[in-house]
Amino acid sequence: MTPPNPGPTDGRSNFVRDIVIQDLQTNKYGGRVHTRFPPEPNGYLHIGHAKSICLNFGLAAEFGGKCNLRFDDTNPCKEETEYVDSIIEDVRWLGFDWEDRLFYASDYFDQLYQWAVQLIKSGHAYVCDLTAEEVREHRGTLTEPGKESPYRNRGVEENLDLFERMRAGEFPDGSRTLRARIDMASPNLNLRDPVMYRILHAEHHRTGGKWCIYPMYDYTHGESDSIEGITHSICTLEFEDHRPLYDWYVEALGIYHPQQIEFDRLNLTYTLLSKRKLLTLVQNGHVSGWDDPRMPTLCGIRRRGYTPEGIRAFCSRVGVSKTNGTIEIGMLEHAVREDLNKRAQRVMAVLRPLRVVIDNYPEGLVEEVEAVNNPEDAGMGTRKVPFSRVLYIERDDFREDPPKQYYRLAPGREVRLRYGYFITCTGVVKDDKTGKVSEIHCTYDPATRGGNAPDGRKVKSTIHWVSAAHAVDAEVRLYDHLFSRENPGDDSEGLDFTAYLNPASLEVVTGCKLEPSLAGAPPGSRYQFERLGYFCVDKDSTGNDRSTRQVPLADARGSARVSEPRPSGSGHRDSAAERLIFNRTVALRDTWAKIEKALAK
Ligand code: ATP
Ligand code: MG
Repeated sequence: MTPPNPGPTDGRSNFVRDIVIQDLQTNKYGGRVHTRFPPEPNGYLHIGHAKSICLNFGLAAEFGGKCNLRFDDTNPCKEETEYVDSIIEDVRWLGFDWEDRLFYASDYFDQLYQWAVQLIKSGHAYVCDLTAEEVREHRGTLTEPGKESPYRNRGVEENLDLFERMRAGEFPDGSRTLRARIDMASPNLNLRDPVMYRILHAEHHRTGGKWCIYPMYDYTHGESDSIEGITHSICTLEFEDHRPLYDWYVEALGIYHPQQIEFDRLNLTYTLLSKRKLLTLVQNGHVSGWDDPRMPTLCGIRRRGYTPEGIRAFCSRVGVSKTNGTIEIGMLEHAVREDLNKRAQRVMAVLRPLRVVIDNYPEGLVEEVEAVNNPEDAGMGTRKVPFSRVLYIERDDFREDPPKQYYRLAPGREVRLRYGYFITCTGVVKDDKTGKVSEIHCTYDPATRGGNAPDGRKVKSTIHWVSAAHAVDAEVRLYDHLFSRENPGDDSEGLDFTAYLNPASLEVVTGCKLEPSLAGAPPGSRYQFERLGYFCVDKDSTGNDRSTRQVPLADARGSARVSEPRPSGSGHRDSAAERLIFNRTVALRDTWAKIEKALAK
């Protein structure tokens, strides 16, 4: 594994990092930096979590500290092992390592219980017999103080007895709670005797049937931080009002006191980052699963072809602040595009093929032209691409009646075939029934091999192509935003977020023709299809076993080579056994998408 970036910060300053630096200077925690990432295992991680992961693991890495992975599994009903496994996989994939520090809040249930007993004994907690409904009624409002529970002044012995019996399973769900005895008149509602334990006769994914009382999140979280010796407990802004409670518990218990620091949640345009809403999309079949490439989940964008490096660069760039905002999704796409630009191999692929016959090219001749694998990285070398008499080009790259400013192929016009020759369109064949162009005829200029004319004449455009006899068939899935509205979570029109699903978020293009080097490309491999964008082999691809495939021969001298004429069709792959599917990760540049759209009209 390549070592991760220095982190979200990349050395960039932000207020959380400033606090850490200051604490190191004042030796507040004896020079330690210890953070944690604390997901609740009730869904898959998304790009918002990536921001938190990068921040927590990144700060630890930057300052020689540690970061724990801790499952905040206090809610037995919604949590599943499936989620735990996916979270472990996703944090690893992002490039972070918790070493031997994988923890579960449920591992601390015994300690939490003992501490609750301690709080009862010190008069800081009591068993309350009010129902959830009554507790709510007693809470008061932002402008009115709450009312004290009639059970608030129970004696310690009675509280201890009742709490013990709650644990023993004597009482039904919801009949009693353990509450912290703080202040029913506090202006902060979180301090109005919050519930610490509830009765829930439910199996827990880790502790099984051992417990029928479960600690609440606020009580569990800070105490777990304390147990693990966390120095900086970094969480999102909605917990700001909970910080006084966080502090109250550790102070009342007299245990080690970590500091909670809140930062802004990531919000993205055209995207929802709520586990509950993402679960709805999965459960109602709006998407194919948590890893649908349109989902903002880490497994979804991984399947789509996003790289950990691109995501980390994005998280670094968005930074952290003390106020919530919304980031343009284009910024995430841009970060991924930038990363892939450096690393992805270029190949030629035709998504909507149009047959081109080069009438003056010898029948049966196959030449191998040399193509650059990545102009950004000479170390990636070159490859040979077969060129022959019948090719496919992109349907969009030909116009019978070219509009103004359309410089690609048209009758009588000459263009360059990338890495190949200049060709001139000499004729058009149309389907009798539909009138649609079914094939075009061209001539080539043998003197222009490699893409330049010895007489210095210029062409206005260069288009990509694939040799028909050698082409690999593929399906390509083009994605657009899952939602058609910038803020799909906005319910001011009284509509549910599913009303804003983009009906055109997935377009499946079949019959695509790829250059033969892509035969057997393994799932997860990423390429730039020249002029089109970045694409990634989908996990649903089958039969892609490179070892049994014949890849084009490289020419020892690195120059053009005339192969033996191949029997017709010999270049075709066994397409029955192989189903190659590509996901479009991101378009190459936004302007290309715009041109494509304009021409489609
Ligand atoms: P949801 O509200 O969708 O259930 P959550 O915040 O409750 O999400 P957790 O599993 O509790 O999900 O999140 C784990 C950590 O990730 C928390 O520290 C949380 O603050 C952080 N986190 C979650 N969503 C975001 C986000 N959009 N941006 C930044 N951090 C986030
Ligand atoms: Mg949460």
